[in-house]
Amino acid sequence: MKQISYVMVKPYFANSKVIIDEIKRRLQLSGMKIMDESYIRYDKKRASMHYSEHIGKSFYPELEDYLTSDKAYGMIVAGENAIQVIRELMGQTKNPKEGTVRYDIPKALGIAMRITENVVHSSDSEESAKKEIGIFLQLKKEYSNQQTNNTAKTNKTKTSGSNFNKCDDDFVL
Ligand code: ADP
Ligand code: MG
Repeated sequence: MKQISYVMVKPYFANSKVIIDEIKRRLQLSGMKIMDESYIRYDKKRASMHYSEHIGKSFYPELEDYLTSDKAYGMIVAGENAIQVIRELMGQTKNPKEGTVRYDIPKALGIAMRITENVVHSSDSEESAKKEIGIFLQLKKEYSNQQTNNTAKTNKTKTSGSNFNKCDDDFVL
């Protein structure tokens, strides 16, 4: 059965292109197709929509803080039995097994595996995927508008004669 899922590299890990590429490679090796992808930034409102089923749980405040702490990287992924295949690739919430993204990435980075601040999200049902993708598409649009505004501001600074040479490429991941 062909399905669509939503995969999101969470903040901190989404700052590394190497990690994003490794997750994409694993998805593609499993026959999954990435239909759309973008950096995004969750605000409190959209974090609570995405994780609505967890509001009120003891870990919710730290989960919301984490998701809103920095940019994330969202992907719409399609494939045969995508929901289950991707959940298996990512690994379970607690004590993920070796060979899964949630185990292998912290291990490769030499950092502790954490339950809340884990590497990645993937949809647990077609219904969740639909909801999460709707939020992703809103955030993608906002992120792109924000980037356009930033570029316009930078250009304005340049043309107004500033000799401040900021080079974004200095930031190597
Ligand atoms: P999954 O991401 O595997 O679908 P859940 O939907 O149950 O897991 O939980 C959403 C996210 O909330 C998890 O990915 C994790 O970041 C965090 N989380 C879940 N359970 C706990 C817990 N018991 N303690 C701390 N954080 C948790
Ligand atoms: Mg879940």
